[in-house]
Amino acid sequence: MARNKTIFHKSHAEIEAMRESNLLVSKTLAYLGTLLKPGVTGTELDAKAEEFIRDNGAVPSFKGLYGCPSSILTSVNECVVHGLPTDKPFVETDLVSIDCGAYLNGFHGDSAYTYAFIGVGEDAMDVLEATNQSLYIGIERARVGNRIGDISWAIQNFIERECGYAVVRELTGHGIGREFHEAPEVANYGRRNSGPIIKPGLVIAIEPMVNTKSRHIATLPDGWTIVAKDGRATAHFEHSVAVTRNGPDILSDHSFVEQTVKENPHLHDPVASKLYEGGV
Ligand code: MG
Ligand code: MG
Repeated sequence: MARNKTIFHKSHAEIEAMRESNLLVSKTLAYLGTLLKPGVTGTELDAKAEEFIRDNGAVPSFKGLYGCPSSILTSVNECVVHGLPTDKPFVETDLVSIDCGAYLNGFHGDSAYTYAFIGVGEDAMDVLEATNQSLYIGIERARVGNRIGDISWAIQNFIERECGYAVVRELTGHGIGREFHEAPEVANYGRRNSGPIIKPGLVIAIEPMVNTKSRHIATLPDGWTIVAKDGRATAHFEHSVAVTRNGPDILSDHSFVEQTVKENPHLHDPVASKLYEGGV
């Protein structure tokens, strides 16, 4: 999606500004986690998210981006990503991935979290847990001197070889900064030691999208919503990550989201994400 191939490395001050945008995204996702219950609709969440982002002095990144009509994307069950919010009420067996972006002080933030209602079965919860772990496994490879392909390979290797699930190939993570989608693309599959070399100041959104069985996807007639062709459960977790000489620095923060998920009786407890402890 990034049209310009130039990678814009960020200064320390720019990374700190991006931390603010990403914290707002994380707080929005946490707030939405308090609102999720059966009967609520994606349209309602979208309105609440937009209000929350604007009340905090920011602008929803998605609204108007490539013509996107909403401030969040709500991808339910077999929907992988890019689900447009609808008026269909959530039910207690739904898996709901919410992707959110906010533009604050000249920089975008981008993060996604997949919430599971209490009736979601064990098989789908395992896909969720694997996807979330693969995100942190990918982040661990975001180090100066590595290449982008090292991140891609690590995610694919864990998901396909170790877990037996399928990585979606057509959609990727991306550089992020003053533009929402910047270079480089960060695929969730690939070869080690391939792609651009990772340098200090790189900021990328890493976002594994994982299907239960078949990696193949289809786009619904709305032109946006991407679904797993086989109709099975799928998950998506995303962090924006800066690379410094000290290692990866996760700018978004799912601990806020996990806290509200834990406190919401309509949702499963958050899946483990402790392979990488974050913070440098
Ligand atoms: Mg996103
Ligand atoms: Mg993204």
